[in-house]
Order: sequence, then structure tokens, then C-alpha cells
Amino acid sequence: MIRVNHYNGKTVEIEGPKRVREILKQLGVLENTVLVARGDELLTPDRTVQEGEEIELIPVISGGMKCKVCGQTAVISLPRHNSAFCRDHFFEFFYHQVKRGINQFRMFTHRDRILVCVSGGKDSLTLWYVLSQMGYNADGLYIDLGIGDYSEASLEMTEKMAETLNRRLIVIPFGSQKMPIAPLAKRARRTACSVCGTVKRYYFNRVALEEGYDVVATGHNLDDEVARLLGNILRWNIPFVAKQSPVLEEENGLRRKVKPMFRLTEQEIAAFAFLNRIQYIRQECPMSRDSTSLLYKRALNLIEEESPGTKHFFYLEFLKKSHIFKALSSDEEPRGTCTVCGGPSLTEVCSFCRLLRRIEKEEQSMKQPLGAETTE
Ligand code: SF4
Ligand code: ZN
Ligand code: ZN
Repeated sequence: MIRVNHYNGKTVEIEGPKRVREILKQLGVLENTVLVARGDELLTPDRTVQEGEEIELIPVISGGMKCKVCGQTAVISLPRHNSAFCRDHFFEFFYHQVKRGINQFRMFTHRDRILVCVSGGKDSLTLWYVLSQMGYNADGLYIDLGIGDYSEASLEMTEKMAETLNRRLIVIPFGSQKMPIAPLAKRARRTACSVCGTVKRYYFNRVALEEGYDVVATGHNLDDEVARLLGNILRWNIPFVAKQSPVLEEENGLRRKVKPMFRLTEQEIAAFAFLNRIQYIRQECPMSRDSTSLLYKRALNLIEEESPGTKHFFYLEFLKKSHIFKALSSDEEPRGTCTVCGGPSLTEVCSFCRLLRRIEKEEQSMKQPLGAETTE
């Protein structure tokens, strides 16, 4: 049997395997009034649920509530705003939040060339989609990390989005041409995520500079930012707290970095992606070991459940007061230039070039130059 946790509090069992569409029909639930989740994964109506699996009809979608703007049946309730919206007004809300974030921090204008860092996940693909819909000049950058099926599927989703938007996608075949992240991390005696971060940061900046983009945009959301802030505060890491912002200004050879969706939660982005039929990779990266940030997110969600709006308040109020932390932080980073690649670096050789040296030492046979493939 398939266990279905209904948002009305009931759990029902249905014979499987069955498509989500059929399950909803059997329960008399309209497809566009619910989000269907299997664990962390959102399921579209054409997906099949197997015997013994458990799915959940997510409570953010409520057929009983009315849109706060027009009074029609709501498709999403947003307790943190004490609101519920129909599909159209939810989209209006969503675009408004992105626009507000962009304007508040003067992230970019319609004249700027924006490079969106896309991973194939819901946040980055939604960001690319939204910026394009808003008329911004936004191209995509995908870094192939060589994480087997996961990387292949993510690239496929990203390419589909590039096609839909008819925008340029730059693909860096790092994993296939140099070395996949997992063995690289092993050799570097670092975690996969830390090596992955070094590789991504390096290419985000290098591609933006070489290809003449004015700004680099990432899909970080409110949950990401709040979890990061909590982590930094729990450790009283003042320099990190002081630096946290939806905008990192251009300095010392680093392109300006922005996070236009910092006002939106993970759940709102998932709902937006779902309602717009944005296809993204639902599988978690198999290298994901960062349980600390997941722990903070879980803790914050528990608080949010009891006290809606806490996450939002915590982060947005921090932004108003971040000058206090900047004043406390005397850690001005002395930036220099990497003697190998000429990029910005705190040390003589940047961390990316140190990684490459390690590969070259150990893999003398792999001598292909790093290159960027471009699809229009
Ligand atoms: Fe990279 Fe870690 Fe994210 Fe996987 S989970 S994409 S390895 S940072
Ligand atoms: Zn409405
Ligand atoms: Zn370097």
C-alpha cells in the first residue's frame, strides 16, 4: 500500500503502484491545489509512487482558503505573511519579492549582463527563469562536477531550461576533463563540498571576468541565508557575520555577487517552480554531507512552525543592523594576486591552483586544457 499523509490530518492507504494524478483523483483533490512530496522530493502528477512508499500532500496548498487579494480559492498559504494567494496573486507576490530584493540592494539593472550560476536544482533554475521573465539579460553557467548520474541529470535539466529561455548556457566540463570531485577531494584530503566550493567560486569569477558579465547571481534563498547567519552567530564568527549580505560588492578582482531570491523561502520557491512546471533535479547531491546547515534549517523550521515569520524577521532585521557587526569586525582581508592564474588570492597561489597542482602531480596523463563549451 501507499501511505498518503493528507493535509487535513488524515492518513490514507491506497493500493500501488500508482501515478500521482490517479492518487489525487481517487482522493478528490485537484492537482493544482496541492504540492505532493515524497521525502524531500516534489512529485509532478505524471510520477509513479511505488508500493510501500509514503507521500505527503503539503499543507501550504489549501483548497479551503481564499486568496487575500481576490477572494478566489487559494493555492498557497503563507503563514509568515499571514496571507494566502491564488495562483496569479502568488506569482505577483513572488515577482514582487524578487524585485524588492534587487531594488533594495541595487543589485543590477536591465543594462547589466548577469551570469546566473545554475546547478540544475530548483533554486538556481527558478532564479534564471524569473530573471528572464523580468526581462533581465541573464545567461547561465553550469559547472560539471563529474558526480556520475547526478551531474548528467542536472546538466540535462539545465540545458532544457536554456532551451526554454533561449539563453546562452556556458558549461565548464571540469569533472570530465580534469577530475571528478570525489577523487579530487580524496587526494586533497578535504570534503567534497569544500573542494566543490573552491572550484565553483573560481569559475564563477573567472567566467564572469573573461566573458564580460557585470554580476554573478546565485539562487540562495531565505532559508539558506538564515541557516548561515545562525551558524555564524552560534560560533560568534563576527567577520563572517559582518560579510553576510545579499550583495558582495566587486573588489580585488572579484566580480559583484548577488542573491536576488533572499526574501523567498525554499518552500515558496518549490511551489513557484512546481506551479510553473519548471523541471529541476530533485535528487540530492550524493556528496552532500553538510548536515550542520540542514540541522540549522530543521531547527529554524521548528521555530517557524510555532512562530511564523521568525526566519524572515531574524534575517531582514539583521540586514538593517549589519553595520554593527561591520564596525566590530576589524578583519580586513589583505588580498593579493595568485602567481599562477592571476586571479584574486589571499595567498601566493590561490586554492584552486593548489588543487590543480595536486592533480597534475598525481595525474600526469590528464593534460587536456580547461575549456568552456558554449551552447546558444
Ligand atoms: Fe557540491 Fe557538496 Fe553541493 Fe554536492 S552537496 S553540489 S559536492 S557543495
Ligand atoms: Zn487572487
Ligand atoms: Zn590561481
